[in-house]
Amino acid sequence: MTFTDLNLHASLLKAITDQGYTTPTPVQAQAIPFILEGRDMLAGAQTGTGKTAGFTLPLLQILTEKTMPKSNRKIRALILTPTRELAAQVAESVKIYGKYLPLKSAVIFGGVGINPQITMLRNGIDILIATPGRLLDHIGQGTVDLSAVEVFVLDEADRMLDMGFIRDIRRVITILPKHRQNLMFSATYSDEIKTLANTLLRNPAEVEVARRNTSSELVTQSVILVDCKRKSALLGELIAKHKWEQVLVFTRTKHGANKLTEYLQKIGITAAAIHGNKSQAARTKALDDFKRSAVRVLVATDIAARGIDIDALPHVVNFELPNIAEDYVHRIGRTGRAGCEGEALSLVCVDEADYLRGIEKLINKKLDSRIIEGYEPDPTIKAEPIQRGRGGAGGSGNRGGNGGGGDRGGKPTQKRDSGRHEPKRRDNDRRH
Ligand code: AMP
Repeated sequence: MTFTDLNLHASLLKAITDQGYTTPTPVQAQAIPFILEGRDMLAGAQTGTGKTAGFTLPLLQILTEKTMPKSNRKIRALILTPTRELAAQVAESVKIYGKYLPLKSAVIFGGVGINPQITMLRNGIDILIATPGRLLDHIGQGTVDLSAVEVFVLDEADRMLDMGFIRDIRRVITILPKHRQNLMFSATYSDEIKTLANTLLRNPAEVEVARRNTSSELVTQSVILVDCKRKSALLGELIAKHKWEQVLVFTRTKHGANKLTEYLQKIGITAAAIHGNKSQAARTKALDDFKRSAVRVLVATDIAARGIDIDALPHVVNFELPNIAEDYVHRIGRTGRAGCEGEALSLVCVDEADYLRGIEKLINKKLDSRIIEGYEPDPTIKAEPIQRGRGGAGGSGNRGGNGGGGDRGGKPTQKRDSGRHEPKRRDNDRRH
């Protein structure tokens, strides 16, 4: 199948060709025809599958087919994303694919001044990409008009719920016109997601690519067993020895991300951290530096890394295993993308044995584990619960409790242990 078979407009095909894409990915091949038919859709697709183009291309086509007078430009498509990074990336995709079309788009998220956004909204746009918190700020101030929305996209719905945005989403939905097309994307399906889909979607077409909760075939996954306190040294050695030039490393906590970054810098490996306590400017800079290979290692917490789009990332390291098994799938989804092979390596200490079992159960596969000479785990060390456990990069005492730098209003979710230090309520949208 080619993009031409999908009946896309010449101007979209030209933008696709400019990007160098020749063949639609499975989610694009499946989703685009349904969306063009005007159907609501529930798509099970994670980042890396090409899902953004999967909804952006037909959306642009739909909006172009019915043009509106420029003098009365109103928001006709609303795309909600859980994080600022994802919002920025989706906005970038809208610009890239829509570059030959006369549509205007804008992105709004927290952590940056609201006034330029108000001016942008006042000047009139067709497509708005937003995170829930800042969108509700604009709704509250009466600076955004959603009365003409024809297409509503909820991207990474599962992560939205994880981050505690459900009430915000429901509030936004009540403001939208009743008659509209709804597209919902989620990498995983929980009962909460199904409930949301049932209330949001009407007779949805269902699209499922890469079976749920299975990890990419293109990713080589393995485990190195090592004591917590020796993980930093081992990671430094692996990066140096194998001359890895672009490594995304996950920690469970923001503090852990900072500590590891400092350690790597100290031993001469360029590294930057990306997490919710960093300013938007710092996060954007870290990501840009990483993308243009000015830093070799990007150390990230799960939510901060969510949706980061970096082509063909060769190495992902789980410095600490996530306490939610699904996050493992999201993390390793950062590598082995769009047909390129990748390696996902997990450094696992005795405290994390249960997390590892949970992950293996979820992906239905036993991960190969090995021991590196000189870094053999000390058999006398007994497992401790993570909340009180020995600190890896996170340092002791940062695995539990509610430290990690003052997430405003950040109530821990029931599903996650509080060591995650990631946001729960919409206030935190301004931080993430
Ligand atoms: P996404 O899942 O939307 O984050 O996209 C993952 C990556 O795949 C992005 O870097 C896209 O630029 C890239 N991509 C999207 N569609 C295609 C395609 N048809 N062929 C090759 N790469 C693509």
